[in-house]
Amino acid sequence: MAPVGFRLSRQGTCPIKVSFEFFPPKTPEMEATLWSSIERLAPLSPQFVSVTYGAGGSTRERTHATVARIIQETPLKPAAHLTCVAADRTEIDGVIRSYWEAGVRHIVALRGDPVEGPGSVYRPHPGGYEQTCDLVAGIKRLGDFEVSVSAYPEKHPEAASLDADIDALKSKVDCGADRAITQFFFDNDVYFRYLDRVRARGISIPIVPGILPVQNFRQAANFASKTGASMPDWLAARFDGLENDVETRRLIAAAVAAEQVIDLVDRGISEFHFYTMNRADLVYAICRLLGLRAPAAPEPQMVAA
Ligand code: FAD
Repeated sequence: MAPVGFRLSRQGTCPIKVSFEFFPPKTPEMEATLWSSIERLAPLSPQFVSVTYGAGGSTRERTHATVARIIQETPLKPAAHLTCVAADRTEIDGVIRSYWEAGVRHIVALRGDPVEGPGSVYRPHPGGYEQTCDLVAGIKRLGDFEVSVSAYPEKHPEAASLDADIDALKSKVDCGADRAITQFFFDNDVYFRYLDRVRARGISIPIVPGILPVQNFRQAANFASKTGASMPDWLAARFDGLENDVETRRLIAAAVAAEQVIDLVDRGISEFHFYTMNRADLVYAICRLLGLRAPAAPEPQMVAA
């Protein structure tokens, strides 16, 4: 039987659902780390595990190989990320069909960053899918896929305003998106204010919070500066001076993420997407705090004489 996590919140007992995001490995060492992380997290029975697609489609083969191996060797349901950039519709449709043939039934549809990198001007590929909503519609046309998309509680950096960005989310939903996963954030109030505005705009799909356990503050801050996510001063203060103290950093990272998800649960949220960075330990510990458990091994049976 699949394990179900329960956590007592101020609002009663609620079942917890989680999903985990991985990136395709580049080297045999990274591959070993990824697979030991998948093995450790799999018994928590995530709803799905997603595998990212490198900028500019650079990991097309590796994303496919990772997703195919998940299907062949684990009971997990994979979701393959796919972007609109650097390929025309025929090529992207070919990728979608190859996922279907491999048994993939869930795609995370994204526009992707401009080929010149975040911060430069996005230009649709000639003959390609222009915006994410077009890709979502294309995926739905080709197969009965579940489609997840992104959402930005602090606004996508290129959007003129948060309302314009929520309009863009609405267009993705109107084209068939089933779920949105947020960019990571650290201030839960930001997420709840965003949720209110999204619901007021008539969007009713789940807006699943993306949780980034901060394993490396400098790296996370650098990533945040490119994605429009803010790093609160209190967070910087907690990691301040710990550059050479890995152990304390890990303990603080676990405490920060645990505090964040427990507050979300207390405020009624029961679904979480974890950016694992291909590392299991922190995420495994946080899931335990949420009440998720691997099923107990069956008791050995006595053999009749
Ligand atoms: P979109 O929602 O498509 O929005 C991009 C911009 O265009 C926004 O400013 C939006 O307001 C605007 N916009 C959207 N639709 C319209 C429209 N119809 N008309 C006019 N304007 C519109 N990147 C990768 O390369 N590979 C990955 O695997 C990957 N996975 C990700 C997973 C998650 C959960 C998240 C949050 C991001 C991920 N990214 C990934 C990053 C993402 O590709 C970049 O943030 C990219 O700049 C935007 O793509 P998007 O689909 O997130 O944004």
